[in-house]
Amino acid sequence: MPPAEPAPPSAAGAPPPALGASALASALAWARGELVRLVEIPSPSGEEAAVVDYLEGRIAELGLPARRDPVAGGCDNLVVGCPFEPRLALVAHVDTVKPTWEWDGKARIQGDEVWGVGSVDDKGSVVAALLGLLLARDAGVPVVDLPLSVGLTVDEEEGGTGSIALARSLCPHHALVMESSEFDIAVAEAGVVEVMLAVHGRSAHGSVPEQGDNAVVKAARLVVALDDLTFLRRAHPLIAPAVVVQQMHGGSDLHVVPDLAEVHLDVRLGPNLHSQEVFDELSALAARHDAEVRTIELADAWETPADAPFVASLRRAVAETLGREPKLFGFPAWTDAHNMVEVGGAQAVVFGPGPRLSTAHRPDDHIDLREVLDCALVVRRLAWDVWRAGLDWPAS
Ligand SMILES: [Zn+2]
Repeated sequence: MPPAEPAPPSAAGAPPPALGASALASALAWARGELVRLVEIPSPSGEEAAVVDYLEGRIAELGLPARRDPVAGGCDNLVVGCPFEPRLALVAHVDTVKPTWEWDGKARIQGDEVWGVGSVDDKGSVVAALLGLLLARDAGVPVVDLPLSVGLTVDEEEGGTGSIALARSLCPHHALVMESSEFDIAVAEAGVVEVMLAVHGRSAHGSVPEQGDNAVVKAARLVVALDDLTFLRRAHPLIAPAVVVQQMHGGSDLHVVPDLAEVHLDVRLGPNLHSQEVFDELSALAARHDAEVRTIELADAWETPADAPFVASLRRAVAETLGREPKLFGFPAWTDAHNMVEVGGAQAVVFGPGPRLSTAHRPDDHIDLREVLDCALVVRRLAWDVWRAGLDWPAS
């Protein structure tokens, strides 16, 4: 960013001064350069050291205070700004999935879009958060003295150990977890019950099936019976419960009645259901079909009241900055917000640039830089509001 003249603070209640066309153009160019560099530093979960080192140096060059936040058994997180109990923490993750497709490791620029692994999930958000702080500083906001932090986490795509450590060390009151949301605001996030069911039968020669008990047939009956699970009828306005049969396999050889079949299930649940009660009902169904249950993951959903002052502040910042009223919705996938709520006790929302999950984890992973810039402008506005309100933010 070229240094800009700090503007004098405006009167209380006034929005930050609007940016002119040339300032917006140079912010867009800055975002492009930063995002290309970040995308070209590989950072699959567990291998984030290089990108964390790079960001630590880059953030220091930008004149922002940052500290390393150790993560048990992994690479460090970074915390920029307020080191403890900020009123607002912006959280974005620096790790990516490991691509299972051919990729030469180069970012590709197509018009205003940056293509490459991690561009939308979640490096575009990392750039938006940092750019937002710089633009706020340019507008005269003393960003280093605010009760506001940016937490850059590791391991979001795998175990979530980064956000566990961040939630414990930072203890933010409010966490804005930055993931692609099309600038709508997720005020809830789905919980999950992921299990493997092993359905047991009895093997027999294929020519005398009456002597056996076919595990594949029993597994098929079990799958059909999933429709009758009562929790599937407990609707929630933001997140409908659903069971996904992810994998099913069984049988070992021709001419043999199979004695084992396995079904891999992923259940999405809304905030009106507890993962344990869902697990218990699934286990009872499994027992009726001679299936053993192996737990892979249980996590509860979370929900922030739609009328919380935090949500109102973000809605206002989006409406006044981008000229559109964001919708409230439920995020269908796990994010770092889960740990910010459950471990850190924060109130959370999920919000960020890019289309909702539709290109993440795919070969067409890309983001439009104009959305990165728009997100940075929302961050700038939030920083401005936190500056004005201080420890009273978010005022209702
Ligand atoms: Zn993500």
